[in-house]
Amino acid sequence: SGPELAALVAGGAVDVRDFPKPGIVFKDLMPFFGDGPRFRRVVDGIVAHYGAGSFDVVAGVEARGFVVAAAIAYATGVGVVPVRKAGKLPRPGFSASYALEYGEATLEVSEDAFVAGQRVLVVDDVLATGGTAAATMDLVERAGGVLTGFTVLMELAFLNGRERLSPRKVHALLTV
Ligand code: AMP
Repeated sequence: SGPELAALVAGGAVDVRDFPKPGIVFKDLMPFFGDGPRFRRVVDGIVAHYGAGSFDVVAGVEARGFVVAAAIAYATGVGVVPVRKAGKLPRPGFSASYALEYGEATLEVSEDAFVAGQRVLVVDDVLATGGTAAATMDLVERAGGVLTGFTVLMELAFLNGRERLSPRKVHALLTV
């Protein structure tokens, strides 16, 4: 159920104050990833939410999104596309830059990452301001994918990422 899945995420998250900068409360999900039954239940919950067969590939955002994306992809028998930080891809790709609280970040995906029309589920660990997610969705569409969903383990509602991504739908297992 929704509340059960939310509790499983909450129970695996540790608040780390002033990381990576003063004033930020970092949601550390390493205990969640390290707990096998917890991780499996939540991945199964995400698959059940969308329904196996409703997407053709899973795109995960470097680096914690890779972990969730690979598990969903394996569970449903589809492939996984890593959306990478700038400068990591060995072949030509699309790139999208976006503002962080201080400075800028760039994400990249290979030019041939998707087959045209492929239905793509995008996954990350935490939704904060939504800049990362917006850039990722932009990359998916530029590379020929069709966005079918965006899911995160945890949504930080006070940063209004959901509004920023509207009308695209956000599925969050836990909203804080
Ligand atoms: P944003 O682009 O602001 O939505 O930030 C989302 C990205 O930054 C995700 O890839 C998260 O892993 C990471 N992130 C941002 N804020 C936090 C936070 N407070 N705790 C953990 N991860 C965060």
